[in-house]
Amino acid sequence: MPTPPNLPLLTGYPETTLAPVRELLASGQLGARIAARYPDRHPYTTHKLLHGYVTELKQRHMKTAKPVSKVLYDDRLLVVEHALGLHTFRSRAHGAKLRALSEIRVAGLFKDVAPEFLRMIVVHELAHLREREHNKAFYRLCTSMEPEYHQFEFDLRLLLTAREVEGTVGNEAPRAEPR
Ligand SMILES: [Zn+2]
Repeated sequence: MPTPPNLPLLTGYPETTLAPVRELLASGQLGARIAARYPDRHPYTTHKLLHGYVTELKQRHMKTAKPVSKVLYDDRLLVVEHALGLHTFRSRAHGAKLRALSEIRVAGLFKDVAPEFLRMIVVHELAHLREREHNKAFYRLCTSMEPEYHQFEFDLRLLLTAREVEGTVGNEAPRAEPR
């Protein structure tokens, strides 16, 4: 019996959900399917624009959470921290006190994605300002900021899986990218 393709980004999803995904992958259609569903691109492609976007969402939904000292795209960040972004909490000596600084680093691949996926990752990182773990309270925060959070996260996982397995992004020609 052939081994089904390993889908590390989709661990934990039930087989009933994964079966159609495997079929689309087998026929090389998964990337195109996601690309068709999310045709737009967001305009926040620089650190500065990203910073503005994060600040606006934080003001609207997480006003009382601790301040974010730094927001940036990090090209060295590949698909880590559960295929998502990376939030870091650093303690720095600040006079006699230790002051916790929060940074939001978003993987460089998010520069060129649909607005839904940028929103999802930023919501995810903002929720981490309150909850460090991926627990129920964490996901409640995510869905309070973006009601379709779970759908977008699942579809992002599909997109990244398609890039891994099919080696293409939607309908584009395959790109040779340095690893
Ligand atoms: Zn996380």
